[in-house]
This record gives sequence, structure tokens and C-alpha cells, in this order.
Amino acid sequence: MLDPGVAIATSALMSFVLLGLLGSLLRAGKSGIAEWFGANLAVVLALPLILLRGKIPDSLSVVVANVLLALGGAAYYAGCARFLGRRPQWPILLAGVTAVGVAVIYWRYAVDSIPMRVFSTTLFSAAFCTALTWMLVRHSPAGRPTYPYRVTAIIAFVFGVCQLVRGFYFLTLDAASSPSMFASAGSVLLLVVAAAIMPILSMSAMLMVHDALLADARDAANRDFLTGALSRQGFEVLARRHVGRVQRHAKPLALLILDLDHFKRINDSLGHAVGDAVLRAFVQMAQAQLRPTDVLGRIGGEEFALLLPDTDSGNAMYLADRLRKAAAAQVVMAGAQPCRYSISGGVAAWQPGESFDRLSARADRALYDAKHQGRNRICAADAGNAVPVV
Ligand code: GH3
Ligand code: MG
Ligand code: MG
Repeated sequence: MLDPGVAIATSALMSFVLLGLLGSLLRAGKSGIAEWFGANLAVVLALPLILLRGKIPDSLSVVVANVLLALGGAAYYAGCARFLGRRPQWPILLAGVTAVGVAVIYWRYAVDSIPMRVFSTTLFSAAFCTALTWMLVRHSPAGRPTYPYRVTAIIAFVFGVCQLVRGFYFLTLDAASSPSMFASAGSVLLLVVAAAIMPILSMSAMLMVHDALLADARDAANRDFLTGALSRQGFEVLARRHVGRVQRHAKPLALLILDLDHFKRINDSLGHAVGDAVLRAFVQMAQAQLRPTDVLGRIGGEEFALLLPDTDSGNAMYLADRLRKAAAAQVVMAGAQPCRYSISGGVAAWQPGESFDRLSARADRALYDAKHQGRNRICAADAGNAVPVV
């Protein structure tokens, strides 16, 4: 037979260990970790008060303990919201915590009823678990492994159901308050599950942080440090994936290769630092004009590739020319001296059955034509020959 005291003490110990682990992650700079830390702190403080029930005043072991547990749940939810880039909605959460406090005080001091006390607190945790499941299912980050978010959502859902069962089970008991109500095997089992909620949810929070840190590390490895565009490797990995996808679904896809004109002259006349500033200014300007699904990579010193999903040749030419005009109009200040630059580009629209390498070679060839024809222009590649548009 499970001893509820041992289960609560074990959960308190686990929460204490997790407090240390989450504390060590505070420096990771991810939103939400501070709230998860706070949630564990509340539980670490609440569980010993519950263990001391009967030995200390009920105001501490019943009221303060339950308010702390509810606060822990609210803080955990707020942590998830902030981690997923959403507003934590503290006013609603605190209203829930206050409702738990009022209910517990009423069912202890106005009418002393253990079943109603348990029912009101389990109702709160069931609502908290349901809201958590819903948020994790709806707002887990796109383009990342779903595993850590699904696991947390499933755990929250199962806990929510267990809490509801526990609450309704207590409602069936005699209203006369007696500690022996806690002694039946089913009730003890549900209490053990309830005590384990925070430590287990904290472990899955760490799983989510781990996923986010891995994604950051992967992103940093695939990003060009100077401009913030994707590195050549990062770009190619994504571009090949896109080409693989259009091979299966036959959707339009275009590739644009851009090169800054006479860039060596900028470096030679104004210095390398100004050259760097021009590269950064170009990427910033380009990114402001692109859709979130467009992929921009720096594939050489002053050469960039832009993959345009769901874009046919005409639209790709239009976008490329808009970028060309914007670049020609841009003035980058080199100290007091204004620096102007231009770009040339080659556009290739993906053709059925075509590999990324061949698509890329055709766009390159069109860029070569644009350079050859005098620069500051965009050329389109079709099957074999390039057609100038400017
Ligand atoms: P074109 O119009 O034919 O492209 O002429 P270009 O001068 O732009 O081309 P070229 O290939 O002769 O020179 C490219 C220059 O880009 C040479 C290199 O020093 C410079 N470059 C490459 N990477 C960087 C960088 O990260 N920062 C700076 N400032 N310059 C760079
Ligand atoms: Mg160049
Ligand atoms: Mg070049």
C-alpha cells in the first residue's frame, strides 16, 4: 500500500532537485524558465506544509499550501506561454489562484468539508492542465520536432483527467470531514499522481528548453555571422529540401542568384569595413521585402541566393527587379561619405524533374549574362538561354 506521506515527500525532493536544474538553465536566456523556476519554488514550499498537516495550523497546511500549489500551476502555465512567445495572461491566472484561496477558506472555516476542498482545488488543476494541453497543441513551434511539445501536452492531459476523477471521487464521499477519507487505495493513488504533477511537468519543460537550445545551436551553425543570412551550407540544405518537395507536389519554385557589382572597388576605395556595412545593409533591405517562406543565403563573399517557394518565373523577375532598384537607391553611409552600390541577378524557375544543382547552374548562367551585359540588371534563364529584362 502506498504511503501518501512518502509520495509527497518524494515529490518535494524531486521539485527541489528540479529547482536546481531549472536554476542552472536561467542563464540560457529562454523566456519562461524563470516562471517554471518559480512554479517549482511554490511547490517546494507547499508540499512540506501539507506533510505537516495536523502538526501546524490549518491556515498554513490547508490554506497557504493550496494557494501555493495553485500559484505554482499558474506560474507553470505562464512559463509555457512565455516560452512559446505568447502572453502569459497573469490577470486570469491570478483570478484562478484567488478563487482557489477563497474556496479553500470557505470549505475549511465556513463549512468544514474535505470533499469540497479537494473538489475545488482539483477543478482548478484540471482547468490548468486542459488550458496547458490546448496551448501546447495549438502553439508548438513550427518546423521543429513535435516530440517535446506532444509529450508535455499528453502528460498535462492525463494529469487533468486524473485530477477530475479525483475531484468527482471526493464528491461522492460523505461530506463529514474526516482524514480517513484519504486512506482508500484509489484516493491515495490519485493523490500520488497529483503530487507528481509539477516535478514531471518540470522535466518536460526541460525537454522543451533542450529542444529550443538545440534549434538555436543548429541555427547559429547555419547562419552567416556578418549579415545574418543563412550560410551557404544552411541555404543548400533548405533549398534541396524545397526542390525535393516540389518534385513530389509540382508547385512553382524559383531561384535568384544575386551578386554585388564592382564590390572590390568599394573595398579598395572605402575600406573593408564599409564593404561589410554594405553587405549588411543589403541583407537587411532584402529581408524586409521578403515573405517569411522565402530563403536568403550568402553563398559567397558578395554573392547571395534567394529561393522563392510558390513563385513562378514572372513573379520572381518582378521581385528580383524590385530588389535591384531598392539596392540602387540605397545609400550606405561610410562615416560622412555616402556609398552607393548596385546588384546584378539571374533568375531560374524550377522545371519539372530538375535537380537543385541544375537549377542553380541555370541561375548562375543568367547572372553571368547580367554581368556581361553591363551589370545593375536581372536576367532570366529559361531552358537553355538567358533573356535580359533591363
Ligand atoms: P563583379 O561586378 O564582377 O561581381 O565585380 P566584383 O568586384 O564585385 O567581384 P570580385 O569577385 O572581383 O570581387 C569580390 C570582392 O568581394 C573581393 C572580396 O575581397 C570582397 N569580399 C568578399 N567577402 C567579403 C566580405 O565579407 N567583406 C568585404 N568587405 N568584402 C568581401
Ligand atoms: Mg561582385
Ligand atoms: Mg562575386
